[in-house]
Amino acid sequence: MRYSGFRVIKEGLFGQKGWTPAWRNPEPKPSYDAIIIGGGGHGLATAFYLAKNHGLTNVAVLEKGYLGGGNVGRNTTIVRANYFLPGNSEFYSHSLKLWEGMEQELNYNVMHSQRGLINLFHSDGQRDAFVRRGNSMVNQGDDAVLLDRDGVQSHLPYLDFDNVRFPVYGGLLHPRGGTARHDAVAWGYARGADARGVDLIQNCEVTGIDIENGKVTGVQTTRGAIKAGKVGMVVAGRSGQVAAMAGMRLPVESHILQAFVTEGLKPVIDHVVSFGMGHFYISQSDKGGLVFGGDLDFYASYAARGNLPMKEHVMDAAMTLMPMIGKAKVLRSWGGIMDMTPDGSPIIDKTPTEGLFLNCGWCYGGFKAVPGSGYSFAHLMATGEHHAPAARFRLDRFATGRGLMDEEGTGAQHNLH
Ligand SMILES: Cc1cc2nc3c(=O)[nH]c(=O)nc-3n(C[C@H](O)[C@H](O)[C@H](O)COP(=O)(O)OP(=O)(O)OC[C@H]3O[C@@H](n4cnc5c(N)ncnc54)[C@H](O)[C@@H]3O)c2cc1C
Repeated sequence: MRYSGFRVIKEGLFGQKGWTPAWRNPEPKPSYDAIIIGGGGHGLATAFYLAKNHGLTNVAVLEKGYLGGGNVGRNTTIVRANYFLPGNSEFYSHSLKLWEGMEQELNYNVMHSQRGLINLFHSDGQRDAFVRRGNSMVNQGDDAVLLDRDGVQSHLPYLDFDNVRFPVYGGLLHPRGGTARHDAVAWGYARGADARGVDLIQNCEVTGIDIENGKVTGVQTTRGAIKAGKVGMVVAGRSGQVAAMAGMRLPVESHILQAFVTEGLKPVIDHVVSFGMGHFYISQSDKGGLVFGGDLDFYASYAARGNLPMKEHVMDAAMTLMPMIGKAKVLRSWGGIMDMTPDGSPIIDKTPTEGLFLNCGWCYGGFKAVPGSGYSFAHLMATGEHHAPAARFRLDRFATGRGLMDEEGTGAQHNLH
């Protein structure tokens, strides 16, 4: 079924009886050409591009829960291409271009809103760093505008400029940055993959990976054994556990990241804004809730919920930057499990086992990467060759020390990424 304005009107006039399910609910087949473990954003996008770009349709996505129930449905929805280092820069630039055509490509409204993102700076040193970042973004072909204090005030008049511990010196505006409706992205890719013949199998946990003579032959699941010549592991916060099924120990730690949403308010924040002197970033959802978050919870865990010290830190930072937020009531908070690598950059690579591929390490920035990651990982799985924009996301950089992409300059300290 194609979605359109005409269809919405027609269904409205005839009692909404003509809609069909967005995807099938098939039983797993005994074997596939390729299996994707994990029905999050990256897994579903990979399946979609395997089918669309490479004609590989005898593919299954195996998801232990429900599609989109992981981090792809838990993030703060920020989409941007404002990276500094070679490797990240070209990848996120490619990903943002895919975002800009996503709704047409998927025939699905993901509410992609390029409302502009402003990173604030509060010292001369931070200004220098943002000038360098802005130049790197422009050199990559993306957009960046340096704002002075007055420039920031014209965009964000509600910030506290005068009576603060960390005065605002200016900001780096990324006009093409913004937000999207996170779970719609998962649903859109799911629908697109299903329409091309991919089997999306929910409530199907992978419990083992079968390997014979150094080659992957299939997986064990809670719904039986399934054979496949190619298997992609795309399980975000569970990457360490699933890779261990293939005898691998990954340079990944799983950490909690929390987010918060307030009651619905009239439109007040029309950009994405990030504070430069504490970990706090915010946008306003289309329903009116202020959506914001901060730093990791400072310890490794598989619990998808957070604890009070980080809540306090985030609220402190919010009140420092925009005291008006103190009047809003927080409705909910939640957590997701982040797959943190030592340099804060991801992995899209083959593994020592033939036919077994790895996609992980998206840390707290993997939502914006969904289309680019799916595109590049599908290319790698289908052709065996690295796709150029993601060619530097190699696993062996952590063994050799060559090619590390430490965007934040914080080394192996996950807490500081
Ligand atoms: C609070 C929060 C805020 C964030 N904010 C942003 C942001 O603003 N911008 C941004 O770019 N990124 C953000 N992120 C990061 C982003 O959400 C993640 O990096 C990204 O979603 C991870 O990829 P994914 O979507 O494939 O993961 P997931 O949706 O977690 O998908 C992985 C799937 O694998 C499944 N799985 C695990 N083990 C198995 C198994 N054994 N068998 C079968 N299935 C299995 C899981 O159930 C899950 O559905 C945020 C994350 C959080 C938690």
